[in-house]
Amino acid sequence: MRLSVKSSSISDSLTLAIDAKAKKMKSEGMDVVGFGAGEPDFDTPSFIKEAAKEALDRGMTRYTPVAGIAELKEAICRKFKEDNGLDYKPSQIIVSNGAKHSLYNAFQAILNPGDEVIIPSPYWLSYPELVRLADGVPVFVETREEDDFKLKPEDLKKAITPKTKALVINSPNNPCGCVYERAELQAIAEIAVENQLFVVSDEVYEAMVYDGLQHTSIASLGPEIKDLTIVVNGVSKTYAMTGWRVGYAAAHEDVVKVMSNVQSHTTSNPNSIAQYASLAALTGPKDEVKAMVAEFDTRRKFMVERINSIPGLSCRMPKGAFYVMMNISQVIGKTYKGRRIDGSLSFADALLDAQMVAVVPGVAFGADNFVRLSYAVSLDNIKKGLGRIEAFIKELE
Ligand code: PLP
Repeated sequence: MRLSVKSSSISDSLTLAIDAKAKKMKSEGMDVVGFGAGEPDFDTPSFIKEAAKEALDRGMTRYTPVAGIAELKEAICRKFKEDNGLDYKPSQIIVSNGAKHSLYNAFQAILNPGDEVIIPSPYWLSYPELVRLADGVPVFVETREEDDFKLKPEDLKKAITPKTKALVINSPNNPCGCVYERAELQAIAEIAVENQLFVVSDEVYEAMVYDGLQHTSIASLGPEIKDLTIVVNGVSKTYAMTGWRVGYAAAHEDVVKVMSNVQSHTTSNPNSIAQYASLAALTGPKDEVKAMVAEFDTRRKFMVERINSIPGLSCRMPKGAFYVMMNISQVIGKTYKGRRIDGSLSFADALLDAQMVAVVPGVAFGADNFVRLSYAVSLDNIKKGLGRIEAFIKELE
């Protein structure tokens, strides 16, 4: 068929095959333990659901302004002020159908064909595809496990070319769980300002930071970097609202204007009811968020300790989000009942067949020596799943 070259070059998710197999096994009644979750395993707090019901009853069922209702944009401005020390006007805010949509709009707004976007690797797998959809070129910069997978200023500098237009920072990070500290962001911000690079700062895991760390938004480090940064955030992860599809971005007015134009011709406003629910989420009590993060923290510590107790496996202590990158490099080259483990995909496949445990192969994030485990999974299942992983590793030859 004569399909578009651009769209045909967008990869389907490498992880899909393992995920589809795990789902099929589950539907056949098998006791699969899934570590693939990319969303909180908690329900949306009830006061948020009530706000949605009220909005429905009040007849808030029509088109809203493209960039979102005024009350929500004002609440987002207050959130940025209180949580991030950032001053934005409502005209600098755009609400979209999830943070992923905000990212899509952002790349559409800033990229010309051939513009390069620096993406620290391992990376969340949608960034390169979102860049390609905007005719940009993703440029990956390797990070190291011993640096907690954080981008080093010297590596960033080396990757900059005359075509570099933007840089992606995702802190707290999916899949690595790293959280950039203020001084680290300061060094990156200086390079971005010097080279006049846009920074697309994906902060959707902001609420999930541990060990007393504080989330810092790179945009808060001075007026120049603020003008260059598109801050992306949303309600999905913080308020267990992944299905509601509300994300938002803050940036220079000129950028937001173009993002709004793109949105106006593609999706129009995000769902009106979900916007009222998000307003309640941002302005309401935070105790359920705190309880959820405390539960993630308990699971995180358990998971890390348990993984490191298994000979042949290891992981760092992640400081944010809800993922652990498990290092499988010591078992690569081994065999499971005659099947050679030559990377993260064959590891994940053999593990699923042998022990009914689903993990995400790191190759999907550009890191074939790792698999990603989510701890948005009950502690009981984490215990069960890691017991099975240990049994699997013991059987490798
Ligand atoms: N950014 C990162 C790093 C994510 O992991 C995700 C979801 O998995 C998103 C953005 C998208 O979030 P949303 O549900 O708001 O589109």
